[in-house]
Amino acid sequence: MEQLSGLSARETVERVAALLGCHPTSEQVAAFLDHHDELRHLREKFFVPKIADLPTSDLSLVDGTQDSIYLVGNSLGLQPKTVKKYLDEELDKWAKMGVHGHTEGSRPWAWAENDLEALMARVVGAQPEEVALMNGLTVNLHLLMLSFYRPTAARHKIVLEDKAFPSDHYAVESQIRLRGFDPEESMLLLKHRPDEETLRTEDILDLIEKEGSSVALVMLSGVQYYTGQLFNMAAITKAAQKQGCLVGFDLAHAAGNAELKLHDWGVDFACWCSYKYLNSGCGGIAGAFVHEKHQHTVKPALTGWWGHNLKTRFDMNNELELQPGVKGFRLSNQSVFLVCPLQASLEVFNMTSMQMLRKKSMLLTGYLEYLIGHYYHEDPAHPGRPHVRIITPSDPQQRGCQLSLSFSVPIDTVFRELEKRGVACDMRHPSVLRIAPVPLYNSFSDVHRFIENLGAAVGTNCQ
Ligand SMILES: *Cc1c(COP(=O)(O)O)cnc(C)c1O
Repeated sequence: MEQLSGLSARETVERVAALLGCHPTSEQVAAFLDHHDELRHLREKFFVPKIADLPTSDLSLVDGTQDSIYLVGNSLGLQPKTVKKYLDEELDKWAKMGVHGHTEGSRPWAWAENDLEALMARVVGAQPEEVALMNGLTVNLHLLMLSFYRPTAARHKIVLEDKAFPSDHYAVESQIRLRGFDPEESMLLLKHRPDEETLRTEDILDLIEKEGSSVALVMLSGVQYYTGQLFNMAAITKAAQKQGCLVGFDLAHAAGNAELKLHDWGVDFACWCSYKYLNSGCGGIAGAFVHEKHQHTVKPALTGWWGHNLKTRFDMNNELELQPGVKGFRLSNQSVFLVCPLQASLEVFNMTSMQMLRKKSMLLTGYLEYLIGHYYHEDPAHPGRPHVRIITPSDPQQRGCQLSLSFSVPIDTVFRELEKRGVACDMRHPSVLRIAPVPLYNSFSDVHRFIENLGAAVGTNCQ
């Protein structure tokens, strides 16, 4: 594998095939790549659902005892194996000592989430003081915008994607109304060019430069949930701040997926959920980031006792001793039952680095792209043949692990047939399947099995 470093995914696949004396589409290539994958032991840290346990599988078509082909970690990450043990520890503690659990044991409930913030900071490229774990994503987005969106008559706009995730769209809309402005005038939506499907960085930077003086806040996602496009957050932050705008990112699809450097990029604030690539389970505790430079200047608009200095929080003297920066944004005590799964997952992340994960991810997703291109490119010589267009950028620097596939044939049938065969992925109308090979637990063989099943689902012969 040493000789293969520095090559593109295509070059790697072709080089390996030549080495093995097989076709690049052979499953031997997947087996070889898995064998040489330095991170393959991490899959063992998660429960991978069996095909028979998926409610959608058809056991007359596939062997139910096999692992499912789980490619939907962008929607809900897999369960780390230590979650149950941690939860049991806390249930036992509660049963045995009741209220004393707040301060006892390895996870004292009163500050259990604080103990994870250093691990979380590592994943998003932040200092531990810049990160808080609290609430849900949309809640954090609102809390942060209450402080960072301070519109004036001259500067009142918020820049966001035209097709932002619905919750972000509604959150921005309602913040604008809350401040007495009109979303029609204050929401500045970034649209892609006609005939294109993703945003060009140059167009984003252009708009910021042209309209920047009326923009209060640039509020984009890090990775676009529908197209899988990874935005150039460093360049966007720099351009927007040059125009005097503040910059926030919703990292729901970027945290645990892309390599982030929130501190170094000078991003003003960010928030993310933890149940997607961060595997904390449905409704898991969310994250928030406020840059160190705002530590003593930006204050939370809403306060609660959890934002109070921990040392004196329980003195109950009603004189708020606000923690600096993002820690002061905390409102309520957090459930230890949400802390347990996140701890389990972050401990797995801590066995490697985002740099290592990203390196595998580029090859894994590049391999998927290669196989799709091989079998499903549009061929003018066979106009009736089903084809697949990848709407996610082909430049690995402009995407995370997800590829969004657009089909020339009805997508509902393809999706159903994939599900019957033990593939877990995600369908978004009108025509997109989102496929996310997650470097933490997916294998090259998963990708190869997906392609075989896709052949059956689309009704073409893959061989
Ligand atoms: C998943 C996701 C959400 C979900 O918000 P919750 O508050 O966690 O329910 C919001 N925004 C984006 C961009 C997402 O990808």
